[in-house]
Amino acid sequence: PTFNAMNLKEELLRGIYAYGFEKPSAIQQRSIKPIVKGRDVIAQAQSGTGKTATFSISILQSLDTTLRETQVLCLSPTRELAVQIQKVILALGDMMNVQCHVCIGGTNLGEDIRKLDYGQHIVSGTPGRVFDMIKRRVLRTRYISISYSVHNVVNMKENLCRAIKMLVLDEADEMLNKGFKEQIYDVYRYLPPATQVVLISATLPHEILEMTSKFMTDPIRILV
Ligand code: AMP
Repeated sequence: PTFNAMNLKEELLRGIYAYGFEKPSAIQQRSIKPIVKGRDVIAQAQSGTGKTATFSISILQSLDTTLRETQVLCLSPTRELAVQIQKVILALGDMMNVQCHVCIGGTNLGEDIRKLDYGQHIVSGTPGRVFDMIKRRVLRTRYISISYSVHNVVNMKENLCRAIKMLVLDEADEMLNKGFKEQIYDVYRYLPPATQVVLISATLPHEILEMTSKFMTDPIRILV
């Protein structure tokens, strides 16, 4: 198994090799393809398995960088992890002209607003601040760019693609341990109904399974 065989964008492939990866880890081999296909994926994996690069590569492959709008939301339990995810995304996407913003508590609100107004393909953050940005309508999760065809029929397809397409929940069990459950549900309620969900968790307690059954459609479960 190689990254070459994964049908990735040329500039993404170059980014992966430039970052120093030679071949995909087990979780990458099993998860990237289904995520890129649009499937909901539950990956039971610890850190150290290559989980961050798994969803980072998948996100970068799915992204339309010609649209300067937020297409992917990535929630994680700590500020440090949110920053780490941004670093990996920017490094792997170094040749893709990708905008990825970190949205975490304890930072300047004005800076968040300025960056989000400019347009960010990906937002990596903690649930509290991300929900705050959504509530303030600074981070827009759905676009009401309704277009009409010649027969005056609303073009829903275009409408849906101009919005968040994917939600990544990294270290989901840790997010629940930190009391982020309500905020995760709050964020989810603002997302378009068809949003793809990728959930990474070291453990799958009842509350996680409850969340997957509410957020996900026919998910693939991958255990590494
Ligand atoms: P994570 O599971 O995201 O905490 O990643 C653990 C470590 O594995 C990080 O230092 C990554 O840079 C590294 N890593 C991830 N994927 C690969 C790969 N395909 N080849 C070599 N190292 C990798």
